[in-house]
Amino acid sequence: MNNPYLPKLATIQKVKVETYDTTTFTLRLDDSGERKAFEYRPGQFVELSVFGAGEAPFCISSSAHGRDDFDLSVRKVGRVTGVLHEMGEGGQVGIRGPLGNCFPFEEVKGKHILFVGGGIGLFPLRPQIQDVYRERAQFASVTVLYGARTPEDLVYQDELEQWQQQEGMTCLLTVDTAADGWSGNVGVVGSLLPKVSIDVSNAVAFVCGPPIMIRFVVQDLSGMGFGDDAIITTLERHMRCGIGKCNHCMIGDKWVCKDGPVFSYREMRAMAEFEE
Ligand SMILES: Cc1cc2nc3c(=O)[nH]c(=O)nc-3n(C[C@H](O)[C@H](O)[C@H](O)COP(=O)(O)OP(=O)(O)OC[C@H]3O[C@@H](n4cnc5c(N)ncnc54)[C@H](O)[C@@H]3O)c2cc1C
Repeated sequence: MNNPYLPKLATIQKVKVETYDTTTFTLRLDDSGERKAFEYRPGQFVELSVFGAGEAPFCISSSAHGRDDFDLSVRKVGRVTGVLHEMGEGGQVGIRGPLGNCFPFEEVKGKHILFVGGGIGLFPLRPQIQDVYRERAQFASVTVLYGARTPEDLVYQDELEQWQQQEGMTCLLTVDTAADGWSGNVGVVGSLLPKVSIDVSNAVAFVCGPPIMIRFVVQDLSGMGFGDDAIITTLERHMRCGIGKCNHCMIGDKWVCKDGPVFSYREMRAMAEFEE
């Protein structure tokens, strides 16, 4: 019987330090049958077990295209992430998932695609950016706006450079506080929005980041004319089971783990009424 609480074993293939507190781990499921069956879409997450430390949810931060392994980008904040950060290539972990829903893809073909990421909010957006860019001709335009606290906090620096140079994609960066050598924009990520000129009547925005950033960016996007269904975000809630059983992450009649973590702004507004 398929037990949803039983983790699949996976081995760390690669460890890439992104910043002083954030590392990307490339994982591969050990069992070839489980590897084949492990199909996921951008926006989905896994429950990661670090044996002896605990289990925690992490979004899958790489596109599934052409790969039999996947990335988790992890900021070190506590017990699970702390022990994981001590592990190296060859270390074994447990994986439950993929879990949750995903970003719309087919439904947004033909539209202008705007990504707005703050801090580690770029993790869930990265696979969607990669998939959208791979099928660039299917979309009216692709714009990535990304902001971090300082230049030291910018994740995926090599990829950001590529995105800035790639034809058919606009990628603008900003930091809250500049440092020596930074010649780019200074200000919150919303300060980049006036530089974007797209037809908002045929656009969709994917917004991920800390709650305060999401709040202000959503206000700005609404002001620009984005409808509530054209703003898509992910919610991060403390969760345990990841499969809608323990009710830890429930808001109103929604489970963030099962009905989300991807929600439109319209859905989020309805959920917010339960939290007030
Ligand atoms: C769907 C989902 C996807 C996620 N994806 C990622 C990801 O890609 N990369 C990443 O680095 N993190 C991600 N997180 C957050 C990650 O799960 C937590 O940081 C993790 O639980 C920390 O585990 P820990 O044992 O190291 O920290 P703990 O020792 O459990 O906690 C350390 C501190 O962080 C706080 N904390 C823990 N979890 C959360 C949370 N969900 N919301 C707010 N505060 C919290 C605790 O209250 C405590 O103060 C995601 C969370 C969710 C729900």
